[in-house]
Amino acid sequence: MKLSTYYKALGFNVMLSKEVRYLKAHQYFASAIFSTSSTMKKIVKLRNIYGDEVDIGGTGMDISRKLPPEIEACFPDYSLYDHTHYALGFLTRGCPKKCDFCIVPAKEGKLEMQTESFSGFVPPGWQNIMLLDNNLLGYANAHELLEEMVVNEYKVNFSQTLDIAYLDQYLYPILLKINSQNSRFTRKRIYFSLNHPGSIRQFEIRKSMLKGFGKDMVSVVAMYGFDTSLSGDYARWMMLRRLGLVTFFQEYWPIGGVAAQLPEPYFDMDLDEVIRLTFRSNGINWEKYLRWLNRLYFKTFGRYYQPLIETIYRYNNKTAIQRYLKHPGTLTSELYHSYL
Ligand code: SF4
Repeated sequence: MKLSTYYKALGFNVMLSKEVRYLKAHQYFASAIFSTSSTMKKIVKLRNIYGDEVDIGGTGMDISRKLPPEIEACFPDYSLYDHTHYALGFLTRGCPKKCDFCIVPAKEGKLEMQTESFSGFVPPGWQNIMLLDNNLLGYANAHELLEEMVVNEYKVNFSQTLDIAYLDQYLYPILLKINSQNSRFTRKRIYFSLNHPGSIRQFEIRKSMLKGFGKDMVSVVAMYGFDTSLSGDYARWMMLRRLGLVTFFQEYWPIGGVAAQLPEPYFDMDLDEVIRLTFRSNGINWEKYLRWLNRLYFKTFGRYYQPLIETIYRYNNKTAIQRYLKHPGTLTSELYHSYL
């Protein structure tokens, strides 16, 4: 969107194509957020069509590449997507932490202001704002930015989640006043993340603050499949249930060559205790975790664990269990994705 603004100001027409196909133009740009196999296939197609004429950026291609300052400073051209529902942007970039799986510290460096605040990307009169900041609360002057959200009565989606470690008695009352929203801006919701059992205590000691946000208001994105064992995952799921937090289970997507580092053995506790758990909200998302467990179990032991399969097929697609049980070797991501 910034490239679009920049080139329109130079007198070009700019168009967005989500399909890979031949178009006649003066310049071509593409952006790859993740380096997944489907993205890589598209990049190959683009190269076949445009050769070196297409300039491909984005984290999926090169984490060190940045827009030139004069383009980075442009106001985003929302019309490119015919998009008017919310403004999208960063107030800050970077993070002071260094989680093993995360490219933000290497890509963005230390935490600092990115724009001249909301005016850098929020069109006049727009109230819905999706923030892309990776660790907003860790920013030294976060309170000023939060206050600005309150004063302007913005509806804010903290899309990259907030870091619970920075939720303190100083920021909490301001956050309470912010109209935090889900990504569709259809209901109030505030997001935190919990990627490691070592952070459970951070939630426990702030449980009254979390409760203060309101029932079903706090959602926690919990990553699995990177470096935690089954017992570590279980400890997190139990705490999230205990505190009544809406859990969003998120499988680790390898990025930048950082492979998952699952401990050996991963299955270090009674699996029945885990699969017995239920989650009041987000049941489908929990089922995704169970399916991941199922694949990992098969990969580890060369056989499936029937109680786990019965749990997965408990509510949905009951007939498919027979097909699956006849062909346990089909426990692959293909089956998983076709089901989803
Ligand atoms: S706190 Fe968040 S943004 Fe910072 S390194 Fe960890 S995962 Fe990345």
